[in-house]
This record gives sequence, structure tokens and C-alpha cells, in this order.
Amino acid sequence: MNIRFYHAKILVTGENKEFSILNGELWVENDSISYIGDGKELRNQKEDAVIFDREIDVEGNLLMPGFKDAHTHTAMTFLRSYADDLPLQEWLEKQVFPNEAKLTKEDVYYLAILGIMEYLTSGITSNFDMYNFPRSIAKASKDTGFRTVFCSGLNNFVSNLEELREDYNVINAMSPLTSFLPGIHAEYTTNQKLMEGLAKLAQELKAPVWMHNAETQKEVEECKARYGMTPTELTEALGFYEYGGGGYHCIWFTEHDFELFQKHDMTVVTNPASNLKLASGICPVKKFLDYGINVAIGTDGPASNNCLDMFREMFLTTGLAKVKEEDASCVSAEEVLYMATAGGAKAMQLPDCDRLAVGKKADLIMLDLKKPNMQPENNIVKNIVYAGSKQNVKMTMVNGKILYENGAFSIGFSEEEIYRRANEIINRIKG
Ligand SMILES: [Zn+2]
Repeated sequence: MNIRFYHAKILVTGENKEFSILNGELWVENDSISYIGDGKELRNQKEDAVIFDREIDVEGNLLMPGFKDAHTHTAMTFLRSYADDLPLQEWLEKQVFPNEAKLTKEDVYYLAILGIMEYLTSGITSNFDMYNFPRSIAKASKDTGFRTVFCSGLNNFVSNLEELREDYNVINAMSPLTSFLPGIHAEYTTNQKLMEGLAKLAQELKAPVWMHNAETQKEVEECKARYGMTPTELTEALGFYEYGGGGYHCIWFTEHDFELFQKHDMTVVTNPASNLKLASGICPVKKFLDYGINVAIGTDGPASNNCLDMFREMFLTTGLAKVKEEDASCVSAEEVLYMATAGGAKAMQLPDCDRLAVGKKADLIMLDLKKPNMQPENNIVKNIVYAGSKQNVKMTMVNGKILYENGAFSIGFSEEEIYRRANEIINRIKG
């Protein structure tokens, strides 16, 4: 399908993490962006050559790259507002693990679609997911047209290296929308033998490795007691990061941990709402930036957040950094918007989805600037990060297809069906 957007403001990502606005047109041919410009010089030449299926008057609103939600557990939608107000370990052991054990692969498929619908309403065009039944999750993305990078959550309880290798092959081949990277759930849920096996596999596959890392102080202290090293030092010594990778959360870091992340060109994915709600701590985002380490942003799962909303995460990322550093000038709106778009794309190995440019994948969104919270237009980037919200998302396009537009979904499922199935699943699990 070929789509021409005209009368648009187009957010252009610069080479130095800066943004500018271009007034004009953006053309999508099949899954990619084929033209960005004022349209004048091409009107007589190329327009005749491209047959557009749709021409959309953007009416002066904004086209920008979709958000990359760089750490999620999408199918945990079933536990939203069911397991709350507990410390992390107790929350995991008493609420999360026992209920997750009752899920079937079919449950996970529909629960993932519920999460995808919420992503679309928040302008999210891809996610970096970790959960049980990876193939059901990848199928949910393929069937709805959403883009998902899956990270294995290898641990002592529900998976093994043979399955992981199979999932790697199946999901990477399933669809242009699905890919798979190796990872472990966390040091505290994975024994040394499994971690060694994963390191070997990642080296063979020449793949980066990911895990939950230093989310709580307790996790780091216990790892030090077990191995005499922090989770970063341990996994680095085991050979995880020969091809890079990164960590989710990364709150309780030592100077040496920062150096190791820098050395291997790794990414930290910060999850500020989840960290606040579980009282885990505040990620040292400014320090990661000072080290030149790539930073991305994730919502984490809907059981710990409980909302899959990148606008809220962006505001918390900058707000918490300012409080932590006692410096209102640090971690600017531009830096945060970069993390939520290009930073996430780098983390997820999606270099073709990082920005709006000719030849890039058409993973883009339209924000409604004609709302009180986006006026006046003194600075559109600051409006997005400090004042923006889901209500501004008019359209979400993934891989050249409009999946959400003016409040309606085009994902092959009705809202009613997905809500009914999600409620049936949780009612069955509650028993
Ligand atoms: Zn997580």
C-alpha cells in the first residue's frame, strides 16, 4: 500500500541526538519511507509515477518516529491491578510466579494482543519483550502486524538451552516483524551452568545478550555473596557481552559496572515507573549518558507499572534524573525523546526503524498538535516530553500499515473479543 501524507510537520532526527521540524510531505511505499521533503520539486515528476492508495491531509500535525518500548512483559496484562503494593521479591514469588504457572500458550497469545493494542494507543511501534511462550507472543505480533524483538528469559524453572536455540531459529524466520535475541531472566533466577551455556550459545550466534540487571540493592548484594562479583561483573566474566547487549533497570551500578557497559558498547534500558512502584530505586541515567552509554526506555510489564505508556516513562526519565542529580538542567527533553526512539532502536537491533528518513521502515506515528496540551508550539519536542500524552496519538503505523487511527484498531481482532478473552483468562486463573 502506498500512502502520501501532506501538510505535515515532520520530526527529523539529527546526527547528534538533536531534532528539527520540516514542513512538507512524507510518502510511504509498501513498508518503507520513499520521500520526505516539501513536495514541490517532485510534484511534477515522481507524483505521476507513484499511485497512492491513500492521501492523508495531516492538517499541520506531527509525523514522528514511533516509540520503541525497550523492555516489556506484554502478556502480563492479565495481572494488571491484581498483584500490587508488595516488595519486588514478595510480589514475584507470591503473586507473579504462581499465577503465571497457570497460563497456557493460547492465553499468552490473546494477552499479548491486549498489550499490543495498548502499545498502539501510546504510539509504540515495536517492543522488546521477555516472557514465557515466546512463539505465541511472536505469532500475536505477526498476526496483528506489530513489530516485536523477543529476548529469551532463560532461567532455572521454565526453559532450557535447546528450546532457546529452537525459538531463536523459529522466531527470526517467522516474519519480517519478529526477531529474537538471547538473554537470561536474571542472575538470581539462573544457575551458573545455564549462564555458561548461554554465553557459549551467544558467541556461536554472534548475538548480544540481555538480562534484568541490578534492579534492586538486594539482588546485587546476594550476587556478590554468591560469586564475589556484581551481576555485570559476573556475566561479563562468563563471556556474555562479546557481541554487546545490555541490561534492564540497571539501578545499583558500581563504577566498574559502568566501565564494563562502556567497554562493550552496551545499552541500559531504564524503567522508571516500574522502579518507582516497586520501590527499587532511581536509575543513574545521567551517569550512563556521561559515560557515552546508549540509553533506551521501557515500560516493563503491565503488572509492575501498570500502564504501557511511553509518554509517562519519558516524563519520569527526565524528572527522576533531575531529582537524583539535584540539577534541573540535566537529561533534557531532546535526550529523552532520542532514548525513546533511536536509543531503543539501537538496543533492539532495529537500525531501519530509528528515525524518519528515505529508505527507513515506515514505523511512524501522527501526533495531534491541535489539543490544548500541545499549544502553543514554542517547542514541539518539549511539548511531547513534558506535556504530551496518549490522547495526542492520532495514528500509529508499523511497517507501512496503519494499525491504529483516530481511536480505531485495524489488527484483525475486535476490541470486544480481546477484552472478553482477557477477563475470561484472569477469572479462570483466580478460580
Ligand atoms: Zn522486567
